Amino acid sequence: IPVDPFDLVIFGGTGDLAQRKILPALFRRYCAGQWPEDAQIIGAARGDHTPDEFRKMTAESLRQNAPMRAQDVDALNGFLQRVDYVSLDALSAEGWQSLAKKLKENRVRAFYFSVGPSLFGPLAERIRLHDMASEHTRIVVEKPFGHDLGSARALNATLAAHFDEGQIYRIDHYLGKETVQNLMAVRFGNMLFEPLWNSQYVDHIQITVAETVGIDGREDYYERAGAMRDMVQNHLMQLLCLIAMEPPAKFDPDAVRDEKLKVIRALDPVEPHHIVRGQFAAGPEGPGYRDVVSNPRSTTESYVALRAHVSNWRWAGTPFYLRTGKRLVARSSVINVMFKDAPHSIFGEEAGRHANALSIRLQPNEGITLKVTIKEPGPGGMRLIDVPLDMSFAEALGPENQDPPDAYERLVMDVIRGNQTLFMRGDEVEAAWAWTDPVIAGWQARGDVPKPYDSGSTGPGDAELLMKRDGRRWQGIK
Ligand code: NAD
Repeated sequence: IPVDPFDLVIFGGTGDLAQRKILPALFRRYCAGQWPEDAQIIGAARGDHTPDEFRKMTAESLRQNAPMRAQDVDALNGFLQRVDYVSLDALSAEGWQSLAKKLKENRVRAFYFSVGPSLFGPLAERIRLHDMASEHTRIVVEKPFGHDLGSARALNATLAAHFDEGQIYRIDHYLGKETVQNLMAVRFGNMLFEPLWNSQYVDHIQITVAETVGIDGREDYYERAGAMRDMVQNHLMQLLCLIAMEPPAKFDPDAVRDEKLKVIRALDPVEPHHIVRGQFAAGPEGPGYRDVVSNPRSTTESYVALRAHVSNWRWAGTPFYLRTGKRLVARSSVINVMFKDAPHSIFGEEAGRHANALSIRLQPNEGITLKVTIKEPGPGGMRLIDVPLDMSFAEALGPENQDPPDAYERLVMDVIRGNQTLFMRGDEVEAAWAWTDPVIAGWQARGDVPKPYDSGSTGPGDAELLMKRDGRRWQGIK
C-alpha cells in the first residue's frame, strides 16, 4: 500500500550510513511499489556535488548494496529521477535557502539526521529558522543517542526546544528487524506461552548477540563507546524489554513504549561480580583489539556478559543473562527462555530430567525451537531425552519470505506513515542510560581491565564462570 506523498531530506546524504543503508532501503520500497507518485528524496550534505553527481554516487551505492532483480534495474532510473541534492552546511546559512525552495507544501516532510550527534542541535535550529517545519514534519535521529545520561538529556532538551516528542523518531535499527517484531507476535499472539511467562515457570533467560566482525573502520567511535554503550544500552536492552514487558493494551506507540519503560525502571543496578568485560586478542582469525586501535593499552571492552534482574511481580528471582561481543565464533542473535524442571519426576531420577527451553533465533536462520521431553525410543525402559520442535521462518513461510526486508525499509516507511511504535522515546533512552552509567563508572573507578579472549572463541572464560556459579550454562552460540 503506497504511503502518503513525502519529501525526505537526508542530512549527511553522501555519508556511509545514507549510502549503504538508507538510500538502498528507500530504493527497495520504491521497487515494491510503496512510493506515491511524486515523493522526493533530497540529499543534503557538506560537499559541492551537483544533483547529477549525487545521483551517480547513489546509483553506484545501490548497485553495491541493494540486490537487484532484472525489473529493479529498470526501476533505477525512475528512482533516481526522484533524488535531488543540495550542498549545505549545518553550521552556517549556506545552502538552506536552496533547500527551502525544493520542499513542497502540504505533504509529509521528514528530515533524517544521518550526521554526527553534535549537528543535531544546529540542524533542528536551522529547520525552524528557515520555517521548514510544520505539523507534518518529522525528524529522524540515529544512534548513538548520547554517550551517557547527561549527554542524552542534553540532546533530548535540544530537540525538544524545536520539536514535539511525537515528531522525533530515535532509531534503534534492531527494532526494525522482522524477527524482533516477531517476538511480540510470539508472546502476545499465542495463548501457549504467556501463562508460563513469569518467574514461577521460567528459570532464567539468556540473550546473546554475537558478532564475528571486529571494529574495522570504526576505531575512533568504538574506542569511546565499547560494547556496553554500543550494544547493551540500546539493542540488548530493547530485546530484554520486549521479552520482559507486560502485555500492552494495544499495539500502539505509547502503549508499547510505556511498558518497555517500566521494565527498564524495574532493573536493579548490576552488581560488579555479575558482569564480565572482555577484549578480543590476536589469533588465527586476525589481529587483536589493541593491535587495531592507536592505544596499545586500551581498556575498551569488545565483549560484555552480565546478569540482570527485573525487580517486579512477574520476574522477581528470574535472572536475565545478557552477552554480546565482537570477533566471536559465529554471528548469532538468539534469545533462550529456559523453563524450570517439572516439579516431580514420576519416572524416577534415573530416567533423567530435561527442562523445556524456547529459543527465538533473530539471525541468522530466523525461527523458533521448542525443546520438549520425550521417551528415548527402544525397549530399554523409561528414559527421557529432549528433542527440538524446530520451526524455521524461511521454511515455514516459503521462498518469498527467505529474505526479510532490511530493518531500515520498515523504519523509514514507518516515519512516513507517522508510526512511532518501533522508535525509542526520550524517557526510554534516558532510563537505559541511567542503568548503564553506574556500570561504566564502576569500571572507571576500579581501573577495570577487560579479560582477553581468543578471536573466534565464545568469549572470556569468566563469562562461563558467571553462569557456572549459578549452576547454569550458556546455550551454544552457533
Ligand atoms: P559519515 O562520516 O560517513 O557521513 C557524515 C555525513 O555528514 C557526510 O555526508 C557529511 O558531508 C555530512 N556532514 C558533516 N558535517 C556536516 C555539516 N557541517 N553540514 C552538513 N553536512 C555535514 O558518517 P556516517 O557513518 O554516515 O554516520 C552518520 C551518523 O549515523 C552518525 O551519527 C553515526 O554514529 C550514525 N550511525 C552510522 C552507522 C553506519 O553504519 N555508518 C550505523 C549506525 C549509526
